[in-house]
Amino acid sequence: TAAAILAVFDGNGRTADGHLVPLLANVGGAKDAVKAAEAGAQGVGLLRTEFCFLERETEPTIEEQVVAYRGVFDAFPGQKVVVRTLDAGADKPLPFLTDTSEPNPSLGVRGYRTDLTTPGVLARQLTAIAQAAEGSAALVWVMAPMIATPEEAAEFAAMCATAGLKIPGVMVEVPSAALLADRILGEVDFVSLGTNDLTQYTMAADRQLGTLAALNSPWQPAVLKLIGLTVEGSIAEGNNKPVGVCGEAAADPVLAVVLVGLGVATLSMTSRSLSAVGAVLKSVTLDDARKLAALAVSAPNPTEARKRVRAGLPILEELG
Ligand code: PEP
Ligand code: MG
Repeated sequence: TAAAILAVFDGNGRTADGHLVPLLANVGGAKDAVKAAEAGAQGVGLLRTEFCFLERETEPTIEEQVVAYRGVFDAFPGQKVVVRTLDAGADKPLPFLTDTSEPNPSLGVRGYRTDLTTPGVLARQLTAIAQAAEGSAALVWVMAPMIATPEEAAEFAAMCATAGLKIPGVMVEVPSAALLADRILGEVDFVSLGTNDLTQYTMAADRQLGTLAALNSPWQPAVLKLIGLTVEGSIAEGNNKPVGVCGEAAADPVLAVVLVGLGVATLSMTSRSLSAVGAVLKSVTLDDARKLAALAVSAPNPTEARKRVRAGLPILEELG
């Protein structure tokens, strides 16, 4: 029950043995951010900036963007806010960026790739983020969606530097990025796993197609392996950089334990999941989480993986 969850969770993400796992929120604008702060989020792990401008026929001006981003920063003074640059395309078309005649939009020009077809928009957005960050009390990080190669990560880092943004990162949501996470993290300061798209692209199963829900599960051992590989890349020689998760996987308290066991440093989710994830995380040690992660990775399928991990989390009975 909600009361039981709140009794167990005090607002700070950590395991039973005190391993800290900051619990952050996914937000789409200032209103969401205020709600997230009230729900006890320790920052924002994903600001989906495209959600600020879904209705726009034309590119928002720098001034309009500054207002939108500043509203989010103001809700989290002294805390981290990870701003994702526009992820237009596929399921989230923006009239001023998206060519809706593409035959296969989720494999098309979306996310960072829109800089190829509509140059200038990304640079102006980075300028707006830098202006909004200046004089704000939030700690602003910025990341690009749909990065597929280390070269793209390096280009993005260079653009961030030009705009005066000091902490560039990228999303790992294309399998090629997970496979080369070590090299990508040679170019940027952090990565955030977008498990929604990482699952869709690993399993070649459209995330919007209910028929393929069993294939399109972040519990698929292949997806878990890619998450583990990303963490390995983050600690590979020369790198010591954090890997977060900001896909829906982080909002499932059972899977959240597995992610922590795989070495993920922060979890970002919809605000309403924060307390349940926090409560379950607090019921296991880091070593328990590692063992449960190993069980999940070795399971034959998603159903069995989840069943095995659930069996190792007696707190779920208590929380109802
Ligand atoms: C993801 O792909 O997991 C993600 C967080 O990005 P979005 O859902 O906005 O594509
Ligand atoms: Mg995505």
